[in-house]
Amino acid sequence: MSRDSKIFGAMSSPKLLLMVGIVLGFLIGRMGNAQGGPLPIHGKRATRLVIRNAMIVDGNGTPASGPADIVVEGNHIVQIVFLDPVAVRSGVARRPAAGDAEIDATGKYVLPGLIDAHAHVQEERGGIPQPLQYELDIWLACGITTVREVGADNTQSIIDLRGRSARGEVASPRIFVYARYSNPPVPKTVDEARQRIRDLKKMGADGIKILGIDRDLMTAMEDESHKLGLRIAHHVGVEETTAWDDIHLGTTSIEHWYGIPDAAIKDRVQNFPSGYNYRNEVDRFRWAGHLWREADSAKLMQVLDSMVASHVAWVPTLDIYEASRDLQRARTQPWFADYLHPTLEDYFRPDPSKHGSYFIGWTSTDETFWKENYRIWENALREFERRGGVIGAGDDAGFIYQMYGFGLIRELELHQEAGFHPIKVIQHVTGNNAKILGEEGRLGRVRTGYLADLIVVNGNPLENLKVLYPTGVEEMRDGKAVKTGGVEWTIKDGIPYNGPKLMAEVKEMVRQARAATTH
Ligand SMILES: [Zn+2]
Repeated sequence: MSRDSKIFGAMSSPKLLLMVGIVLGFLIGRMGNAQGGPLPIHGKRATRLVIRNAMIVDGNGTPASGPADIVVEGNHIVQIVFLDPVAVRSGVARRPAAGDAEIDATGKYVLPGLIDAHAHVQEERGGIPQPLQYELDIWLACGITTVREVGADNTQSIIDLRGRSARGEVASPRIFVYARYSNPPVPKTVDEARQRIRDLKKMGADGIKILGIDRDLMTAMEDESHKLGLRIAHHVGVEETTAWDDIHLGTTSIEHWYGIPDAAIKDRVQNFPSGYNYRNEVDRFRWAGHLWREADSAKLMQVLDSMVASHVAWVPTLDIYEASRDLQRARTQPWFADYLHPTLEDYFRPDPSKHGSYFIGWTSTDETFWKENYRIWENALREFERRGGVIGAGDDAGFIYQMYGFGLIRELELHQEAGFHPIKVIQHVTGNNAKILGEEGRLGRVRTGYLADLIVVNGNPLENLKVLYPTGVEEMRDGKAVKTGGVEWTIKDGIPYNGPKLMAEVKEMVRQARAATTH
């Protein structure tokens, strides 16, 4: 019992009524504050931020529930109060006291901030500078509060950005630095491989990204990484190593998908045509479209089971290959009109000198093989999760027609296409990604005591993942088309950012860059 109810109990009924009236008046006064009270200041952490009436989708795969009031103090979630609808209607609901900033989330959904498990911080494309804030702003506007940076050219600059982000000096998601192991000079011996890992640990890397590596070097670098507590993301190429090596050596996550079907090919080599050259990206991507059909399905299940048993997670980045199955879709994404930076636009143009820009002579036959490739791949993903595997979500944006942020939301749509329930899709991009980072004790949940990384979404992402796109959606209401959707607020480390404001800044950045490049 609260002290208030004891006081009420001792009073006569007229006095009680008066008292109730005063308390109600006080509560309504506070409610006024709650519903019309000071909105958060963009980019400024409030002492106490209260989000009212939110429907919550947590990052642990449980269904939506609410409404609830969520209290953030500093950079932590300190209280979540689920509201009893009867008590709310009769005005006696006990609700958290007002904050110095309030968000009315009536009709909106609150999720953990999205985590991009496969991202690249890019300050240039094809050697042409691109403003860093362009990418950071879009990330935040798409609800991304954490990125796992998997392989920058300059590890030190990403470590510096991680620090500036942590100190709130730059509007940016949290950064986890998975340093590219093979930055020049490329380690060529077992001793050099071990030394490289020690050097990256000393620099402050959170993990290691490996790509296309021989078995002896992989064995040495994984062993050294385990000793030093560094996690490992592996982009398996078509190499001597496959998912079996990740299973035996203890890789944290396989990026993309190569290496998994390769491990299930009975003859151990794909049936490449005689003229195939791996260094030719048209060859490489064309024949990658035939890879899943060559995997033996029984053997594939053994690979998936072994990944589960060895705790190897899978970050498939379905979005980044989508152009291979539908080039026209990739080239005409609606957000390009206002938000595609000319530097990125230029980089996307087919050109053999740019990684991933291989669409010269891409045929309907290529697309057909790739569509089949996706069907088998998506089935493998579902089997993997059913067998207990951890699937994360990342977009690898900045390549192959995928824009930062938008790519991750497309990735979520493709997880749904693969057959996952939207609740699981949200779990992939929040709770599971936190687990892959080893941060599941403080990130990826809407939970008291967790870091205040939250998004307030204008709509229900379980009904339509497209509501997460900053460009929004249209809905029919009372016979009229109404523009809605988008992430209204992205709260990272307790700092609120207004999505539409960020996108207006991005639009202006792009307008100016286009004006400067028009001759
Ligand atoms: Zn990548």
